[in-house]
Amino acid sequence: MSSSRLALLYSRDQIKCRVAELAKRINSDYAGRDLVVIGVLKGAFVFLADLVREIELDVRVGFVSVSSYGSETESSGTPAVRVPTDLRIAGQDVLVVEDLLDTGRSITALIDDLRGCAPCSIRLCVLIDKCERRATPLEADYVGFQLAEGFVVGYGLDYADRYRALPEIFMLDLSTTCSQPTGVSLSGRVERP
Ligand code: 5GP
Ligand code: MG
Repeated sequence: MSSSRLALLYSRDQIKCRVAELAKRINSDYAGRDLVVIGVLKGAFVFLADLVREIELDVRVGFVSVSSYGSETESSGTPAVRVPTDLRIAGQDVLVVEDLLDTGRSITALIDDLRGCAPCSIRLCVLIDKCERRATPLEADYVGFQLAEGFVVGYGLDYADRYRALPEIFMLDLSTTCSQPTGVSLSGRVERP
């Protein structure tokens, strides 16, 4: 089987370098302070795992759930935010880590909810900033890659819950994509020629 629907966008090395650069800035910006890193499930789990291992601060890690997509590629516009009660962020510096910023609605809703928990500060770190469909004035403080358009998968990012386990980031050709992707094994791994 071929993987013709997937075009490589960012290689493992490019991602590794960029994650290290982001962590370096975060280490410097928060030097001498503790940090609560909050990952947005599910897409940010791979990025967060790599990022926190490059951060040389005393970090606590938590996760929140924000969903507005289901199996579609268009945001539903009504994000459902679930913030666990045990996050303990009052008076803390918080860094929200997200896979991709698109319309900005999910993260705006999340940040509004987190503000209700009285943190000392909240900043946003996104792996990919896709500005084309932005519908809120939100801007990320730390951005891995800027992307004009397209639908990307891999490195935690999914299409209908597939492709998350790919170590690289790919552009997915949606014009040939059906509900049962081919070119991908049951584990979600691309079958290489
Ligand atoms: P929004 O910013 O529109 O509220 O939603 C952003 C979320 O939509 C991302 O965290 C991601 O889950 C999903 N999303 C938006 N664009 C893409 C894309 O190109 N690829 C994937 N896999 N997810 C996307
Ligand atoms: Mg996401």
